Amino acid sequence: MKSMVVSKRKKDFYKEYIQQLILSIELCKCCNLSCVMCPYHDGKPQHSGFMSKQTFMNTVNSIKQIDFPNLVVIPYLFGESTMHPQICEFITILDQALDPQKNQSICLSTNAINLNEEVSHTICNSKTFKKLTISIDAASSKTYDTIKGSPLYSKVVNNVINFLKIRKQTRNNFPRIYIQFIIMEENKYEVELFITTWRKVFEQLGLKMFNVSGDFWELERDSDMLFLIYRWDPDSRENSWKNNCLHKDIITNIGIITKEQKQFYLAREYLYLFQEKEFCMAPFYMQTVHFDGNISPCCNDDYNCLYMGNVNENELNEIFHSKRYETLRMFHLYGDLKDYPHCHNCIFYYNEKMVNPHFYRDLFRKKYL
Ligand code: SF4
Repeated sequence: MKSMVVSKRKKDFYKEYIQQLILSIELCKCCNLSCVMCPYHDGKPQHSGFMSKQTFMNTVNSIKQIDFPNLVVIPYLFGESTMHPQICEFITILDQALDPQKNQSICLSTNAINLNEEVSHTICNSKTFKKLTISIDAASSKTYDTIKGSPLYSKVVNNVINFLKIRKQTRNNFPRIYIQFIIMEENKYEVELFITTWRKVFEQLGLKMFNVSGDFWELERDSDMLFLIYRWDPDSRENSWKNNCLHKDIITNIGIITKEQKQFYLAREYLYLFQEKEFCMAPFYMQTVHFDGNISPCCNDDYNCLYMGNVNENELNEIFHSKRYETLRMFHLYGDLKDYPHCHNCIFYYNEKMVNPHFYRDLFRKKYL
């Protein structure tokens, strides 16, 4: 693979406009649950597997070459990473490779079934773990079972409580914990119960900083919180919109946002979902390593349709500045994605700034090209 020489202009561009690289590492492509809202249990043929230690080490070793003011490493993609038999070893290695002084951090999402003592201690003892999102989506065993197809609700709740206790003994409220509830028809009656249940848990543990956030746009990054979001359907704008409206109705009714805020958010999200974009910022600040080492330019590419290289053959930085990555960026900058059907049909398009994609495309064209 030919890596490009990065011009000063481009270096300046990244320094000024792209402050951070988000690096996802898919430790495993399999899950111990089959949630109804998960887009990856949609009947499409899946290949599953675990990342080998060699691929993981190649990834970690090439992190050192990454030159961004901030680096967020997300060690999961389309699977439950705690199922990896070497999860604790991998987290420890990753933590040692990162430097908190350089704003390098780890964020993980889990269903907490395997959040046992060992995993909890490993996470809480790490110096760079910043955020742990735990998807629960229910406030009773019955609903949990309906949504996740699992009787393990109580085990998950206990694991989270134990995790919070361990955290209290170790790293001064880090990582922050986001307890996630995706609002949908199956669980909409339990939203208030979910909030009171977890408020009580936090109170009993003497944990004060606790917020309820209604969606991604208003994400508070500096405290623990209950995170209520809508059910995303990557294959359908209409379904995503319908789910978004349900979510906004519920959080307005229980007073998390006002009616005026609801109108504002809905107008913005309508624009986000339905306007033609043909420009996405992900290739400028994202890199995803699949479990087999293949690279995608974003985390919305489960089948690696946008193959950018393989970390077992080239370093991450080389791949990021490769001709292939650069060509994808050019097509995005020119707003012409017919040669990239995966992007053309994508409804994700990265960054909240995408409610005004043309402004950013024009700015990037001016500053990058
Ligand atoms: S348009 Fe979608 S698939 Fe393409 S780079 Fe952006 S997020 Fe990924």
